[in-house]
Amino acid sequence: MKVKDIFPILEELAPLGYAEDFDNVGLLVGSPEQEVSGILVCHDALETVVTEAIEQKCNLIVCFHPILFSGLKKITGKNYVERAVIKAIKHDIAIYAIHTALDNHQEGVNKIFCTTLGLENTRILIPKANYIQKLVTYVPIANTEAVRQALFGVGAGAIGNYDHCSFVSEGKGSFRGNEKSNPVLGKAGVEEVVGEHKVEVIYEKHLEGKILAALFQAHPYEEVAYEIYNLENALQNVGMGMIGELKEPMEERAFLEMVKEKTGTGGIRHSAFLGKPIQKVAVLGGSGSFAIKAALQQKADAFITADLKYHQFYEAENQLVLADIGHFESERYTKNYIVEFLSKKMPNFAVILSTVNTNPVNYL
Ligand SMILES: [Zn+2]
Repeated sequence: MKVKDIFPILEELAPLGYAEDFDNVGLLVGSPEQEVSGILVCHDALETVVTEAIEQKCNLIVCFHPILFSGLKKITGKNYVERAVIKAIKHDIAIYAIHTALDNHQEGVNKIFCTTLGLENTRILIPKANYIQKLVTYVPIANTEAVRQALFGVGAGAIGNYDHCSFVSEGKGSFRGNEKSNPVLGKAGVEEVVGEHKVEVIYEKHLEGKILAALFQAHPYEEVAYEIYNLENALQNVGMGMIGELKEPMEERAFLEMVKEKTGTGGIRHSAFLGKPIQKVAVLGGSGSFAIKAALQQKADAFITADLKYHQFYEAENQLVLADIGHFESERYTKNYIVEFLSKKMPNFAVILSTVNTNPVNYL
């Protein structure tokens, strides 16, 4: 199996199209054509992890955080990023990063966080905007069903808990082919009027290539008439952070003690207790200060995230308990999930969980 053969499985785990614009995801180091001897899954692809990969005979590292983030102008080994990259290249080790592609996935980082805390009825905290597109195409009536099914087959027409969603209306299409044309209906040079269906479906942006390929395959015409629109609707199943409920309300201190125990953090910094029970909880693994407003709007009793600055604790506005449990700790089970996912998809392939602790933060 080559590195590029694993891309579709990694796409299934976390479509790279879900990643934020600022991010740097996908294959960062190495050749897609290289044969893979084994996969090592880690949180941060540091030099120590590359050494572990060599020892474990894994030449593909799948990491959560991208080791290359802001680009390199020199590669001399003067910092930890350059040293990791140099070592990987020297030993023919490829590095693939997932990051916000999995942050935004409904089964990803924040679902894992919610499950760790025992939250139920979970939904996305900040649904992803500008990610839905709409395809409109015109199909001779006899072919409508085949085209609809072909589009559904590659993921078009999914809305929340529903799939096979489409809208079909009837009308008349006209066309006249020139002397080079070879029309399926009618003759070149003669205007043809045909009873057609207008078929409308929505899909997630990253599926566009597959959707168009399926359309061209299933549609009978030599020239397929179609339109693509960007929709402003937010995508409810994809986005940053998550919110859910505890089965039973908990007293604030007991709740944070539970969070501490379940995430194994060395300490929690939190805003003032409000004397209110905690039941509705928002989470965002990693740096989540940008989501405080969303947690307030959703009337969360607590928002658990990381990397909060002094002034950001004020933003709790005495309406929720804001807690910083540590960046690594808020994402710590992500790599286990990746190993589980890849092992299920490739049962006969070595997928190894890194045992190197890459958390740079220590607690006294
Ligand atoms: Zn992170």
